[in-house]
Amino acid sequence: MVAIPDSAVGTNTTLPGLESTFADELGALTVPWRGADVADPRLLVFNDQLAASMRLDAAALRSGDGVAVLSGSATPAGAKPVAMAYAGHQFGGYVPLLGDGRALLLGELVNDDGRRVDLHLKGSGRTPFSRGGDGFAVVGPMLREYLVSEAMHALGIPTTRALSVVATGRQVLRGGAEPGAVLARVGSSHLRVGTFEYAVRQGAVLAPLADYAIARHYPELIDRPATGESSRYVAFFEAVVEAQASLVAQWMLTGFVHGVMNTDNTTISGETIDYGPCAFLDAFDPAAVFSSIDHGGRYAFGNQPAVLKWNLARLAETLLTLIDSTPDDAIAAVSAVLDTFDARYDAHWTAGMAAKLGVAGGPVDRTLVDDLLTLMTERGADWTGSFRALADELRGNPVPLDGLVPREHIGPWLQRWRGVVERQGRAAVQVADAMDCVNPVYIPRNHQLDAALRAATDGELAPFEKLLEVVTHPFDRRDEWSDYTTPAPRVFSETFQTFCGT
Ligand code: AMP
Ligand code: MG
Repeated sequence: MVAIPDSAVGTNTTLPGLESTFADELGALTVPWRGADVADPRLLVFNDQLAASMRLDAAALRSGDGVAVLSGSATPAGAKPVAMAYAGHQFGGYVPLLGDGRALLLGELVNDDGRRVDLHLKGSGRTPFSRGGDGFAVVGPMLREYLVSEAMHALGIPTTRALSVVATGRQVLRGGAEPGAVLARVGSSHLRVGTFEYAVRQGAVLAPLADYAIARHYPELIDRPATGESSRYVAFFEAVVEAQASLVAQWMLTGFVHGVMNTDNTTISGETIDYGPCAFLDAFDPAAVFSSIDHGGRYAFGNQPAVLKWNLARLAETLLTLIDSTPDDAIAAVSAVLDTFDARYDAHWTAGMAAKLGVAGGPVDRTLVDDLLTLMTERGADWTGSFRALADELRGNPVPLDGLVPREHIGPWLQRWRGVVERQGRAAVQVADAMDCVNPVYIPRNHQLDAALRAATDGELAPFEKLLEVVTHPFDRRDEWSDYTTPAPRVFSETFQTFCGT
Protein backbone atom coordinates (compact mmCIF):
# COMPACT_ATOMS: atom_id res chain seq x y z
CA MET A 1 0.00 0.00 0.00
CA VAL A 2 1.15 3.52 -0.85
CA ALA A 3 1.78 5.80 2.15
CA ILE A 4 -0.41 8.86 2.61
CA PRO A 5 1.47 11.70 0.88
CA ASP A 6 3.00 13.92 3.55
CA SER A 7 3.26 16.76 1.07
CA ALA A 8 -0.37 17.60 1.69
CA VAL A 9 -0.77 20.49 4.07
CA GLY A 10 -3.65 21.74 6.13
CA THR A 11 -5.10 25.12 5.36
CA ASN A 12 -7.04 27.84 7.06
CA THR A 13 -9.75 27.45 4.47
CA THR A 14 -12.78 25.80 5.94
CA LEU A 15 -15.74 24.53 4.00
CA PRO A 16 -18.50 25.36 6.47
CA GLY A 17 -21.01 22.56 6.75
CA LEU A 18 -18.69 19.91 5.30
CA GLU A 19 -19.66 16.48 6.65
CA SER A 20 -18.33 12.96 6.15
CA THR A 21 -21.27 10.62 6.62
CA PHE A 22 -19.99 8.17 4.02
CA ALA A 23 -16.50 7.95 5.53
CA ASP A 24 -17.94 7.80 9.05
CA GLU A 25 -20.59 5.16 8.42
CA LEU A 26 -18.90 3.05 5.75
CA GLY A 27 -15.25 3.13 6.67
CA ALA A 28 -14.79 -0.35 5.20
CA LEU A 29 -15.36 1.19 1.76
CA THR A 30 -12.85 4.00 2.15
CA VAL A 31 -9.19 4.76 2.71
CA PRO A 32 -8.38 8.09 4.39
CA TRP A 33 -6.17 9.94 1.92
CA ARG A 34 -4.73 13.28 0.84
CA GLY A 35 -4.12 14.91 -2.52
CA ALA A 36 -0.68 15.32 -4.04
CA ASP A 37 1.24 18.54 -3.77
CA VAL A 38 0.54 21.11 -6.49
CA ALA A 39 3.37 23.47 -7.30
CA ASP A 40 1.64 26.05 -9.45
CA PRO A 41 -2.17 25.95 -9.14
CA ARG A 42 -4.22 28.16 -11.44
CA LEU A 43 -7.99 28.34 -11.40
CA LEU A 44 -9.22 27.85 -14.97
CA VAL A 45 -12.96 27.85 -14.44
CA PHE A 46 -15.25 28.19 -11.43
CA ASN A 47 -18.99 27.68 -11.16
CA ASP A 48 -20.36 30.54 -9.06
CA GLN A 49 -23.97 29.50 -9.42
CA LEU A 50 -23.26 25.97 -8.22
CA ALA A 51 -21.08 27.28 -5.38
CA ALA A 52 -23.94 29.50 -4.26
CA SER A 53 -26.39 26.58 -4.28
CA MET A 54 -23.97 24.72 -1.99
CA ARG A 55 -23.65 27.76 0.27
CA LEU A 56 -19.94 27.91 -0.48
CA ASP A 57 -18.00 31.15 -0.22
CA ALA A 58 -16.93 31.74 -3.81
CA ALA A 59 -14.47 34.51 -2.94
CA ALA A 60 -12.73 32.28 -0.38
CA LEU A 61 -12.52 29.41 -2.87
CA ARG A 62 -11.03 31.68 -5.53
CA SER A 63 -8.29 32.80 -3.11
CA GLY A 64 -4.91 31.09 -2.89
CA ASP A 65 -5.99 28.89 0.03
CA GLY A 66 -9.26 28.06 -1.69
CA VAL A 67 -7.59 27.08 -4.96
CA ALA A 68 -5.21 24.86 -2.96
CA VAL A 69 -8.28 23.03 -1.60
CA LEU A 70 -9.81 22.74 -5.08
CA SER A 71 -6.53 21.32 -6.39
CA GLY A 72 -6.38 18.70 -3.62
CA SER A 73 -3.04 19.92 -2.31
CA ALA A 74 -4.52 21.30 0.91
CA THR A 75 -7.15 19.75 3.11
CA PRO A 76 -9.83 22.06 4.45
CA ALA A 77 -9.87 22.32 8.22
CA GLY A 78 -11.91 19.47 9.73
CA ALA A 79 -12.27 17.54 6.46
CA LYS A 80 -11.71 13.78 6.25
CA PRO A 81 -10.93 13.12 2.60
CA VAL A 82 -11.08 9.49 1.47
CA ALA A 83 -10.52 7.41 -1.62
CA MET A 84 -13.59 5.22 -2.20
CA ALA A 85 -13.33 1.52 -2.97
CA TYR A 86 -15.42 -0.06 -5.71
CA ALA A 87 -15.29 -2.89 -8.19
CA GLY A 88 -16.84 -3.04 -11.63
CA HIS A 89 -17.59 -4.83 -14.85
CA GLN A 90 -15.49 -3.12 -17.52
CA PHE A 91 -16.58 -4.01 -21.05
CA GLY A 92 -18.30 -7.05 -19.56
CA GLY A 93 -15.30 -8.39 -17.62
CA TYR A 94 -15.29 -8.30 -13.83
CA VAL A 95 -12.54 -6.34 -12.06
CA PRO A 96 -12.76 -7.02 -8.30
CA LEU A 97 -10.98 -3.84 -7.21
CA LEU A 98 -11.04 -0.49 -8.99
CA GLY A 99 -11.73 2.39 -6.60
CA ASP A 100 -10.71 6.04 -6.75
CA GLY A 101 -7.33 5.69 -8.42
CA ARG A 102 -7.02 9.42 -8.99
CA ALA A 103 -9.89 10.89 -7.03
CA LEU A 104 -10.88 11.85 -3.51
CA LEU A 105 -14.18 12.35 -1.75
CA LEU A 106 -13.61 15.55 0.24
CA GLY A 107 -16.92 15.27 2.04
CA GLU A 108 -20.57 16.21 1.74
CA LEU A 109 -22.50 19.44 1.90
CA VAL A 110 -26.20 20.04 2.27
CA ASN A 111 -27.49 22.22 -0.58
CA ASP A 112 -29.85 25.15 -0.19
CA ASP A 113 -32.66 22.82 -1.27
CA GLY A 114 -31.83 20.43 1.58
CA ARG A 115 -30.20 17.77 -0.62
CA ARG A 116 -26.89 16.22 0.44
CA VAL A 117 -24.20 16.32 -2.24
CA ASP A 118 -20.66 14.97 -2.48
CA LEU A 119 -17.71 17.23 -3.14
CA HIS A 120 -15.19 15.15 -5.02
CA LEU A 121 -11.82 15.81 -6.66
CA LYS A 122 -10.62 14.08 -9.80
CA GLY A 123 -6.95 14.12 -10.80
CA SER A 124 -5.64 14.73 -7.26
CA GLY A 125 -2.81 12.17 -7.32
CA ARG A 126 -2.10 8.53 -6.65
CA THR A 127 -4.06 6.54 -4.08
CA PRO A 128 -3.92 2.90 -2.93
CA PHE A 129 -6.34 2.18 -5.82
CA SER A 130 -4.13 3.63 -8.58
CA ARG A 131 -2.88 0.29 -9.93
CA GLY A 132 -0.55 1.26 -12.81
CA GLY A 133 -1.96 4.77 -13.20
CA ASP A 134 -0.24 8.03 -12.27
CA GLY A 135 -3.23 9.39 -10.33
CA PHE A 136 -3.40 12.54 -12.43
CA ALA A 137 -5.74 14.08 -14.97
CA VAL A 138 -5.11 16.65 -17.69
CA VAL A 139 -6.66 19.95 -18.71
CA GLY A 140 -8.50 18.82 -21.88
CA PRO A 141 -10.49 15.93 -20.38
CA MET A 142 -11.27 17.78 -17.14
CA LEU A 143 -12.60 20.81 -19.02
CA ARG A 144 -14.51 18.36 -21.21
CA GLU A 145 -16.22 16.89 -18.16
CA TYR A 146 -16.86 20.39 -16.81
CA LEU A 147 -18.53 21.60 -19.99
CA VAL A 148 -20.49 18.48 -20.91
CA SER A 149 -21.81 17.88 -17.39
CA GLU A 150 -22.93 21.50 -17.14
CA ALA A 151 -24.53 21.24 -20.59
CA MET A 152 -26.37 18.10 -19.49
CA HIS A 153 -27.60 19.89 -16.38
CA ALA A 154 -28.85 22.79 -18.48
CA LEU A 155 -30.62 20.29 -20.74
CA GLY A 156 -32.46 19.00 -17.65
CA ILE A 157 -30.68 15.62 -17.65
CA PRO A 158 -29.67 14.27 -14.22
CA THR A 159 -25.89 14.50 -13.88
CA THR A 160 -22.99 15.16 -11.61
CA ARG A 161 -21.94 18.78 -11.90
CA ALA A 162 -18.69 20.69 -12.06
CA LEU A 163 -17.53 23.26 -9.53
CA SER A 164 -14.06 24.06 -10.85
CA VAL A 165 -11.04 23.03 -12.85
CA VAL A 166 -7.60 23.96 -11.53
CA ALA A 167 -4.48 23.61 -13.71
CA THR A 168 -1.71 22.18 -11.56
CA GLY A 169 1.35 23.29 -13.49
CA ARG A 170 2.44 19.66 -13.58
CA GLN A 171 3.34 18.06 -16.90
CA VAL A 172 1.51 14.75 -17.19
CA LEU A 173 2.51 12.13 -19.73
CA ARG A 174 -0.31 11.11 -22.09
CA GLY A 175 1.58 10.12 -25.21
CA GLY A 176 3.21 13.53 -25.09
CA ALA A 177 3.34 15.86 -22.08
CA GLU A 178 0.02 17.51 -21.24
CA PRO A 179 -0.83 20.13 -18.63
CA GLY A 180 -2.21 18.54 -15.45
CA ALA A 181 -5.56 19.53 -13.93
CA VAL A 182 -7.94 18.71 -11.10
CA LEU A 183 -11.72 18.81 -11.46
CA ALA A 184 -13.94 19.47 -8.45
CA ARG A 185 -17.11 17.50 -9.05
CA VAL A 186 -20.43 17.62 -7.24
CA GLY A 187 -22.87 14.73 -7.26
CA SER A 188 -25.86 13.43 -5.32
CA SER A 189 -23.39 10.73 -4.29
CA HIS A 190 -20.62 8.64 -5.77
CA LEU A 191 -22.36 5.34 -5.07
CA ARG A 192 -22.10 3.15 -8.12
CA VAL A 193 -23.27 -0.31 -9.09
CA GLY A 194 -19.58 -1.11 -8.67
CA THR A 195 -19.70 -0.01 -5.03
CA PHE A 196 -22.27 -2.76 -4.40
CA GLU A 197 -20.24 -5.27 -6.41
CA TYR A 198 -17.29 -4.55 -4.15
CA ALA A 199 -19.33 -4.59 -0.92
CA VAL A 200 -21.09 -7.89 -1.60
CA ARG A 201 -17.72 -9.62 -1.70
CA GLN A 202 -16.70 -7.98 1.59
CA GLY A 203 -19.80 -9.33 3.32
CA ALA A 204 -20.56 -7.33 6.44
CA VAL A 205 -20.62 -3.90 4.82
CA LEU A 206 -23.29 -4.77 2.25
CA ALA A 207 -26.39 -4.18 4.40
CA PRO A 208 -25.05 -0.90 5.86
CA LEU A 209 -24.19 0.26 2.33
CA ALA A 210 -27.66 -0.59 1.03
CA ASP A 211 -29.31 1.19 3.97
CA TYR A 212 -27.04 4.21 3.52
CA ALA A 213 -27.96 4.35 -0.18
CA ILE A 214 -31.66 4.06 0.65
CA ALA A 215 -31.51 6.74 3.34
CA ARG A 216 -29.64 9.07 1.03
CA HIS A 217 -31.45 8.57 -2.26
CA TYR A 218 -34.77 6.91 -1.57
CA PRO A 219 -35.52 7.84 2.07
CA GLU A 220 -39.21 7.06 1.72
CA LEU A 221 -38.26 3.35 1.68
CA ILE A 222 -36.10 3.21 4.78
CA ASP A 223 -38.79 2.11 7.24
CA ARG A 224 -39.83 -0.90 5.22
CA PRO A 225 -38.84 -4.40 6.36
CA ALA A 226 -35.70 -5.98 4.91
CA THR A 227 -37.41 -9.09 3.62
CA GLY A 228 -40.85 -10.22 2.52
CA GLU A 229 -43.43 -8.75 0.17
CA SER A 230 -42.52 -5.11 0.75
CA SER A 231 -38.75 -5.58 1.18
CA ARG A 232 -36.98 -2.23 1.15
CA TYR A 233 -34.16 -3.79 -0.85
CA VAL A 234 -36.49 -4.88 -3.64
CA ALA A 235 -38.11 -1.44 -3.56
CA PHE A 236 -34.63 0.14 -3.64
CA PHE A 237 -33.73 -1.91 -6.69
CA GLU A 238 -36.97 -0.84 -8.34
CA ALA A 239 -36.20 2.82 -7.59
CA VAL A 240 -32.76 2.52 -9.19
CA VAL A 241 -34.24 0.73 -12.21
CA GLU A 242 -36.76 3.55 -12.61
CA ALA A 243 -34.17 6.32 -12.20
CA GLN A 244 -31.79 4.72 -14.67
CA ALA A 245 -34.52 3.87 -17.21
CA SER A 246 -35.53 7.52 -17.17
CA LEU A 247 -31.92 8.66 -17.46
CA VAL A 248 -30.98 6.49 -20.42
CA ALA A 249 -34.20 7.53 -22.20
CA GLN A 250 -33.07 11.14 -21.84
CA TRP A 251 -29.66 10.28 -23.28
CA MET A 252 -31.35 8.61 -26.24
CA LEU A 253 -33.64 11.59 -26.83
CA THR A 254 -30.71 14.00 -26.79
CA GLY A 255 -28.31 11.93 -28.89
CA PHE A 256 -25.85 11.51 -26.04
CA VAL A 257 -23.35 8.65 -26.22
CA HIS A 258 -21.78 7.98 -22.82
CA GLY A 259 -19.04 5.83 -24.27
CA VAL A 260 -17.93 3.82 -21.22
CA MET A 261 -20.98 2.41 -19.48
CA ASN A 262 -19.08 0.10 -17.17
CA THR A 263 -20.86 -0.76 -13.92
CA ASP A 264 -18.45 1.48 -12.01
CA ASN A 265 -19.77 4.36 -14.11
CA THR A 266 -23.45 3.58 -13.40
CA THR A 267 -24.80 5.49 -10.42
CA ILE A 268 -27.33 4.53 -7.77
CA SER A 269 -28.74 8.08 -7.84
CA GLY A 270 -29.64 7.94 -11.54
CA GLU A 271 -27.19 10.72 -12.41
CA THR A 272 -24.89 10.62 -15.42
CA ILE A 273 -21.30 10.25 -14.25
CA ASP A 274 -17.84 10.19 -15.86
CA TYR A 275 -17.58 12.08 -19.11
CA GLY A 276 -14.42 10.48 -20.48
CA PRO A 277 -15.14 9.34 -24.03
CA CYS A 278 -18.67 10.76 -24.36
CA ALA A 279 -19.97 12.49 -27.50
CA PHE A 280 -23.16 13.81 -29.07
CA LEU A 281 -24.68 12.56 -32.30
CA ASP A 282 -25.05 14.86 -35.24
CA ALA A 283 -26.99 12.48 -37.53
CA PHE A 284 -29.18 9.87 -35.84
CA ASP A 285 -27.25 6.60 -35.96
CA PRO A 286 -27.86 3.68 -33.59
CA ALA A 287 -24.46 2.20 -34.50
CA ALA A 288 -22.51 5.36 -33.59
CA VAL A 289 -19.39 4.66 -31.53
CA PHE A 290 -16.82 7.35 -30.76
CA SER A 291 -14.60 5.80 -28.11
CA SER A 292 -11.18 4.70 -29.32
CA ILE A 293 -11.25 1.63 -27.04
CA ASP A 294 -14.80 0.41 -27.80
CA HIS A 295 -13.74 -1.92 -30.60
CA GLY A 296 -16.79 -4.16 -30.46
CA GLY A 297 -19.28 -1.31 -30.24
CA ARG A 298 -20.56 -2.57 -26.88
CA TYR A 299 -21.39 1.01 -25.87
CA ALA A 300 -22.72 2.18 -29.25
CA PHE A 301 -25.51 4.78 -29.10
CA GLY A 302 -28.30 2.31 -29.82
CA ASN A 303 -27.02 -0.27 -27.32
CA GLN A 304 -27.24 2.02 -24.32
CA PRO A 305 -30.64 0.90 -22.97
CA ALA A 306 -29.69 -2.79 -23.24
CA VAL A 307 -26.32 -2.19 -21.58
CA LEU A 308 -27.97 -0.27 -18.78
CA LYS A 309 -30.32 -3.18 -18.17
CA TRP A 310 -27.32 -5.52 -18.08
CA ASN A 311 -25.66 -3.25 -15.50
CA LEU A 312 -28.83 -3.25 -13.41
CA ALA A 313 -28.79 -7.06 -13.46
CA ARG A 314 -25.32 -6.86 -11.91
CA LEU A 315 -26.76 -4.62 -9.17
CA ALA A 316 -29.62 -7.08 -8.62
CA GLU A 317 -27.15 -9.91 -8.03
CA THR A 318 -25.51 -8.00 -5.19
CA LEU A 319 -28.83 -7.58 -3.33
CA LEU A 320 -29.99 -11.20 -3.33
CA THR A 321 -28.75 -12.19 0.12
CA LEU A 322 -30.39 -9.14 1.66
CA ILE A 323 -33.76 -9.92 0.13
CA ASP A 324 -34.37 -13.55 0.95
CA SER A 325 -32.39 -16.43 2.43
CA THR A 326 -33.87 -18.70 -0.25
CA PRO A 327 -31.88 -17.78 -3.38
CA ASP A 328 -34.66 -18.74 -5.80
CA ASP A 329 -37.11 -16.44 -4.04
CA ALA A 330 -34.67 -13.55 -4.04
CA ILE A 331 -33.93 -14.11 -7.72
CA ALA A 332 -37.65 -14.20 -8.53
CA ALA A 333 -38.19 -10.91 -6.69
CA VAL A 334 -35.43 -8.96 -8.48
CA SER A 335 -36.14 -10.59 -11.83
CA ALA A 336 -39.74 -9.40 -11.67
CA VAL A 337 -38.43 -5.86 -11.20
CA LEU A 338 -35.73 -6.12 -13.86
CA ASP A 339 -38.37 -7.36 -16.30
CA THR A 340 -40.09 -3.99 -15.98
CA PHE A 341 -37.05 -2.13 -17.34
CA ASP A 342 -38.03 -2.33 -21.02
CA ALA A 343 -41.54 -1.02 -20.42
CA ARG A 344 -40.28 1.76 -18.16
CA TYR A 345 -37.63 2.80 -20.68
CA ASP A 346 -40.13 2.68 -23.50
CA ALA A 347 -42.65 4.80 -21.60
CA HIS A 348 -40.02 7.48 -20.87
CA TRP A 349 -38.66 7.47 -24.39
CA THR A 350 -42.06 7.53 -26.08
CA ALA A 351 -43.30 10.34 -23.86
CA GLY A 352 -40.12 12.26 -24.60
CA MET A 353 -40.47 11.78 -28.35
CA ALA A 354 -44.11 12.87 -28.20
CA ALA A 355 -43.03 16.08 -26.47
CA LYS A 356 -40.25 16.63 -29.02
CA LEU A 357 -42.86 16.30 -31.80
CA GLY A 358 -45.44 18.51 -30.12
CA VAL A 359 -47.95 15.69 -29.73
CA ALA A 360 -47.66 15.09 -26.01
CA GLY A 361 -51.39 15.30 -25.34
CA GLY A 362 -52.54 11.78 -26.09
CA PRO A 363 -51.33 8.34 -27.10
CA VAL A 364 -48.54 8.54 -29.68
CA ASP A 365 -48.72 6.91 -33.07
CA ARG A 366 -45.60 4.77 -32.91
CA THR A 367 -45.31 4.40 -36.67
CA LEU A 368 -45.17 8.19 -37.00
CA VAL A 369 -42.13 8.22 -34.72
CA ASP A 370 -40.50 5.16 -36.29
CA ASP A 371 -40.99 6.52 -39.81
CA LEU A 372 -39.31 9.78 -38.83
CA LEU A 373 -36.34 7.89 -37.42
CA THR A 374 -36.05 5.90 -40.64
CA LEU A 375 -36.18 9.08 -42.72
CA MET A 376 -33.59 10.80 -40.57
CA THR A 377 -31.28 7.79 -40.63
CA GLU A 378 -31.55 7.53 -44.42
CA ARG A 379 -30.83 11.21 -44.97
CA GLY A 380 -28.28 11.64 -42.17
CA ALA A 381 -30.27 14.67 -41.03
CA ASP A 382 -28.97 16.49 -37.98
CA TRP A 383 -30.83 15.16 -34.93
CA THR A 384 -30.80 18.31 -32.81
CA GLY A 385 -31.48 20.71 -35.66
CA SER A 386 -34.36 18.70 -37.10
CA PHE A 387 -36.70 19.12 -34.14
CA ARG A 388 -36.23 22.88 -34.03
CA ALA A 389 -36.77 22.94 -37.80
CA LEU A 390 -40.07 21.08 -37.36
CA ALA A 391 -41.24 23.74 -34.91
CA ASP A 392 -40.25 26.45 -37.42
CA GLU A 393 -42.25 24.56 -40.03
CA LEU A 394 -45.33 24.94 -37.83
CA ARG A 395 -44.65 28.68 -37.63
CA GLY A 396 -44.73 28.84 -41.42
CA ASN A 397 -40.96 28.99 -41.92
CA PRO A 398 -39.85 26.11 -44.17
CA VAL A 399 -36.23 27.30 -44.58
CA PRO A 400 -34.57 25.42 -41.69
CA LEU A 401 -36.12 22.07 -42.62
CA ASP A 402 -35.29 22.58 -46.30
CA GLY A 403 -31.68 22.90 -45.25
CA LEU A 404 -31.79 19.49 -43.57
CA VAL A 405 -34.02 17.12 -45.58
CA PRO A 406 -35.25 17.38 -49.19
CA ARG A 407 -38.95 18.21 -49.17
CA GLU A 408 -39.86 15.45 -51.61
CA HIS A 409 -38.37 13.02 -49.12
CA ILE A 410 -40.06 14.23 -45.93
CA GLY A 411 -43.24 15.70 -47.49
CA PRO A 412 -45.62 12.74 -46.94
CA TRP A 413 -44.43 12.30 -43.36
CA LEU A 414 -44.85 16.03 -42.70
CA GLN A 415 -48.45 15.86 -43.83
CA ARG A 416 -49.20 13.02 -41.45
CA TRP A 417 -47.49 14.79 -38.58
CA ARG A 418 -49.28 18.08 -39.28
CA GLY A 419 -52.55 16.17 -39.30
CA VAL A 420 -51.85 14.76 -35.83
CA VAL A 421 -50.81 18.18 -34.53
CA GLU A 422 -53.92 19.86 -35.95
CA ARG A 423 -56.26 17.25 -34.50
CA GLN A 424 -55.04 18.26 -31.03
CA GLY A 425 -56.88 21.55 -31.54
CA ARG A 426 -54.06 23.78 -30.28
CA ALA A 427 -52.75 26.72 -32.29
CA ALA A 428 -49.71 25.72 -34.36
CA VAL A 429 -47.61 28.50 -32.86
CA GLN A 430 -48.41 27.30 -29.36
CA VAL A 431 -47.35 23.78 -30.28
CA ALA A 432 -44.15 25.12 -31.81
CA ASP A 433 -43.36 27.06 -28.63
CA ALA A 434 -43.93 23.95 -26.49
CA MET A 435 -41.58 21.99 -28.77
CA ASP A 436 -38.89 24.63 -28.38
CA CYS A 437 -39.00 24.14 -24.62
CA VAL A 438 -37.86 20.51 -24.93
CA ASN A 439 -35.77 20.59 -28.11
CA PRO A 440 -32.37 22.24 -27.60
CA VAL A 441 -30.83 24.53 -30.17
CA TYR A 442 -27.34 24.06 -28.76
CA ILE A 443 -25.55 20.90 -27.70
CA PRO A 444 -21.79 20.54 -27.29
CA ARG A 445 -20.93 19.78 -30.91
CA ASN A 446 -18.01 17.38 -31.06
CA HIS A 447 -15.88 19.48 -33.41
CA GLN A 448 -16.43 22.68 -31.47
CA LEU A 449 -15.71 21.07 -28.13
CA ASP A 450 -12.61 19.45 -29.57
CA ALA A 451 -11.34 22.79 -30.91
CA ALA A 452 -12.11 24.58 -27.63
CA LEU A 453 -10.27 21.94 -25.59
CA ARG A 454 -7.24 22.07 -27.88
CA ALA A 455 -7.09 25.84 -27.50
CA ALA A 456 -7.51 25.59 -23.72
CA THR A 457 -4.70 23.03 -23.53
CA ASP A 458 -2.54 25.61 -25.32
CA GLY A 459 -3.55 28.25 -22.77
CA GLU A 460 -6.28 30.02 -24.74
CA LEU A 461 -9.51 29.75 -22.71
CA ALA A 462 -11.80 32.12 -24.64
CA PRO A 463 -13.31 29.53 -27.04
CA PHE A 464 -14.05 27.22 -24.09
CA GLU A 465 -15.71 30.02 -22.13
CA LYS A 466 -17.82 30.99 -25.11
CA LEU A 467 -18.90 27.42 -25.82
CA LEU A 468 -19.71 26.91 -22.14
CA GLU A 469 -21.96 29.96 -22.19
CA VAL A 470 -23.77 28.72 -25.29
CA VAL A 471 -24.34 25.11 -24.18
CA THR A 472 -25.53 26.15 -20.73
CA HIS A 473 -28.35 28.08 -22.49
CA PRO A 474 -29.42 25.24 -24.76
CA PHE A 475 -32.96 26.41 -25.46
CA ASP A 476 -32.40 30.18 -26.02
CA ARG A 477 -31.86 30.74 -29.71
CA ARG A 478 -29.68 33.79 -30.31
CA ASP A 479 -28.66 35.17 -33.71
CA GLU A 480 -25.07 35.73 -32.63
CA TRP A 481 -24.73 32.05 -31.72
CA SER A 482 -25.70 30.69 -35.14
CA ASP A 483 -22.25 29.11 -35.62
CA TYR A 484 -22.99 26.73 -32.75
CA THR A 485 -25.87 24.95 -34.47
CA THR A 486 -23.97 23.33 -37.30
CA PRO A 487 -22.99 19.66 -37.29
CA ALA A 488 -19.35 18.76 -37.71
CA PRO A 489 -17.88 18.89 -41.21
CA ARG A 490 -17.55 15.45 -42.76
CA VAL A 491 -13.74 15.52 -42.65
CA PHE A 492 -13.98 15.89 -38.90
CA SER A 493 -16.66 13.26 -38.20
CA GLU A 494 -15.01 10.63 -40.37
CA THR A 495 -11.99 10.47 -38.09
CA PHE A 496 -13.33 11.79 -34.77
CA GLN A 497 -12.54 9.57 -31.79
CA THR A 498 -12.84 10.11 -28.06
CA PHE A 499 -10.57 8.83 -25.33
CA CYS A 500 -11.02 7.81 -21.71
CA GLY A 501 -9.67 10.67 -19.65
CA THR A 502 -6.68 8.72 -18.42
P1 AMP B 1 -12.70 5.80 -15.55
O1 AMP B 1 -12.44 5.20 -16.89
O2 AMP B 1 -12.29 7.25 -15.43
O3 AMP B 1 -14.09 5.56 -15.08
O4 AMP B 1 -11.71 5.05 -14.53
C1 AMP B 1 -11.74 3.66 -14.33
C2 AMP B 1 -10.79 3.30 -13.21
O5 AMP B 1 -9.45 3.63 -13.56
C3 AMP B 1 -11.06 3.97 -11.88
O6 AMP B 1 -10.71 3.08 -10.87
C4 AMP B 1 -10.11 5.14 -11.92
O7 AMP B 1 -9.80 5.63 -10.64
C5 AMP B 1 -8.90 4.52 -12.58
N1 AMP B 1 -8.05 5.51 -13.24
C6 AMP B 1 -8.33 6.19 -14.37
N2 AMP B 1 -7.30 7.00 -14.69
C7 AMP B 1 -6.34 6.85 -13.75
C8 AMP B 1 -5.05 7.41 -13.53
N3 AMP B 1 -4.51 8.30 -14.36
N4 AMP B 1 -4.37 7.00 -12.43
C9 AMP B 1 -4.89 6.09 -11.59
N5 AMP B 1 -6.10 5.52 -11.75
C10 AMP B 1 -6.83 5.89 -12.82
MG1 MG C 1 -15.25 6.00 -13.61
